[in-house]
Amino acid sequence: MERRDFLKLTAFGGISILTNTGIGFTGHRDKRIYLTIDDSPKEETTEEILKVLDTFGVKATFFCIGWRLNKFRSIAYKILEAGHSLGNHSYTHRKFSTLNPENRIREVLYTDRVLKSLSSRCGIPYRKVWRFPYGDTANDSEVFKFLRRKGYRVIGWDVDSQDWRYYSHKSPLSTRDIIRRSLRNESSITLLLHDIPITAKRVLPYLIGYYLDMGYTFERL
Ligand SMILES: [Zn+2]
Repeated sequence: MERRDFLKLTAFGGISILTNTGIGFTGHRDKRIYLTIDDSPKEETTEEILKVLDTFGVKATFFCIGWRLNKFRSIAYKILEAGHSLGNHSYTHRKFSTLNPENRIREVLYTDRVLKSLSSRCGIPYRKVWRFPYGDTANDSEVFKFLRRKGYRVIGWDVDSQDWRYYSHKSPLSTRDIIRRSLRNESSITLLLHDIPITAKRVLPYLIGYYLDMGYTFERL
């Protein structure tokens, strides 16, 4: 399907935010965006996200939870084989400030082992990137040291879509709110998204179309 038709079908229903097409294809060739999809792999949504990325021909980074990788290995292989990156997002996705120091290290290590084995079975070099669950570092310098020793780059984000709040009863956001929060015009953007249905169906197709029109190149970590 042509990209623009896809965009109309999947994302425009009910959303009236317009892309700034005037700035798009002239200059700004050095603008980069890193799409980061957290809490993968998921049976319900990851493959849908892969289809969207494939339709637009862009790459992303999936920050994966170790137990999910073990349960849904076939989905993890599909992510790797499509040329996207897998990142380490802990084993159980607990807040690090609620764990003792040994368990924090285990969270890194267990998922590190799974990612290594998945990558080597695909014959793909494992690019070591780490993101703390909930961004909670627990101010633990030992974890940072350990990550460095293991060769990890610690990745945060510049732009937080807060897409998960679409499903929040306490503080819900509309699709439009989520998209508005995700639009920027910086030379380099690391955008935080989640492996959830609203992102697969509405948010991601819109944002990819927007950033392509704005002249961004999509890179994986
Ligand atoms: Zn997470």
